Amino acid sequence: MRLIKGWSDWHVHPITYLYLLAAWWVGCFRTYFLLLFIVSFHELGHYLVAKYYCFEIKQVLLLPFGAFIQLDDFGFHRIEEELLVVLGGLCMHAFLFLVPNNEFQYLQQTVLFFNILPIYPLDGSKILLLLFSYVMDFQKAILLQIYISLFCLSVFIVWYYETSYFIIYIYLIYHISKYYLTYPLYIKKLILQRINILPFLKERVVLDTNFYRAYHNVYHNKNHLISEINYTSVLLNRHSKQK
Ligand SMILES: [Zn+2]
Repeated sequence: MRLIKGWSDWHVHPITYLYLLAAWWVGCFRTYFLLLFIVSFHELGHYLVAKYYCFEIKQVLLLPFGAFIQLDDFGFHRIEEELLVVLGGLCMHAFLFLVPNNEFQYLQQTVLFFNILPIYPLDGSKILLLLFSYVMDFQKAILLQIYISLFCLSVFIVWYYETSYFIIYIYLIYHISKYYLTYPLYIKKLILQRINILPFLKERVVLDTNFYRAYHNVYHNKNHLISEINYTSVLLNRHSKQK
């Protein structure tokens, strides 16, 4: 479907215009417009930090139920930079809290609450994975992130079940499933692209074949220490066998 181009690499999905029209038709245009403004302002925080750290921004897409920034190289930068990109969106709410309007506050706090849920691909879940990456093997960290997402999504559906949220449940389930199927390929790609980032990372001596994304992994091999760059085949082999 053709996307209608907005400001710079920001795009509004055509269905969003239809939703705006429908909102005007049923008399809730103002609320819906405020909601779109809030999610866009939130996304602007991610966008500005991503620009600052030279992420490859594919686009920011304004969908009927939210705005989403698509970064081609998220997951390949330093963890600290990615944490700041995610926190950038959440920090924008500090400005939104200054707006003295009850309806606006209700909407922006709902958007903030939703985004900090630890459900992939929401901000809360991304922050969890980035923090797990400091203390555990990256594959285990991703699996833990997925289990937490599924558990919290189940709780969310049971507690907040509303037919109007149905499109959001489907959206989240679709993304978690896709993530589960594609994460092994992502880890392999990450292992192969580490050479550019290693000079910026602290070394960590690893006694097994675990892979800590936040560190330059150095492995014990026949009484020698070997950098992960020279251990790529072993790490790729491990991720081919396991899932
Ligand atoms: Zn966000």
